[in-house]
Amino acid sequence: MANVNERTYIMIKPDGVQRNLVGEIIGRFEKRGFKLIALKLVQSTVEHLEKHYADLKGKAFFPGLIKYMASGPVVCMVWQGLDAVKTGRVMLGATNPLQSPVGSIRGDYALAVGRNICHGSDAVESAEHEIKLWFPEGVVQYTSAQETWIQE
Ligand code: UDP
Ligand code: MG
Repeated sequence: MANVNERTYIMIKPDGVQRNLVGEIIGRFEKRGFKLIALKLVQSTVEHLEKHYADLKGKAFFPGLIKYMASGPVVCMVWQGLDAVKTGRVMLGATNPLQSPVGSIRGDYALAVGRNICHGSDAVESAEHEIKLWFPEGVVQYTSAQETWIQE
């Protein structure tokens, strides 16, 4: 059953920041009805990014991916709401922007798989792991004034 309080880790990658897509991407999650419960701009380190992408270690693209992700600041966010993990992935589009539908973030703003502007957790367990990794200080609990207009 879909969880109303599901949380997902969404990150705007260095190309998304450099291309001034921060407001656009945040706006899409806000307007969809998700609740922002954590947000920060971070210059990440190779060591931290290797932890984030640990499951991809050994892939041919891994060194290039880490270099790309460390090449500038990223925007780290946690969004909460109904089916946030799966819906977040749909809003991002496919890993390869060329296979992403128009209307998705990657389908509207990206072309190359190695410059696909955003990250989204792929499962509830990985979301919880990524939230702890990027927000060891925790997230923010508050009541959204819109909640009853978004959720039955
Ligand atoms: N990636 C890449 N080449 C590939 C596959 C992935 O450069 O052939 C990069 C791309 O930036 C992707 C990231 O590695 O977003 C993580 O890969 P994953 O398969 O987890 O895709 P995602 O979950 O981001 O859609
Ligand atoms: Mg992934």
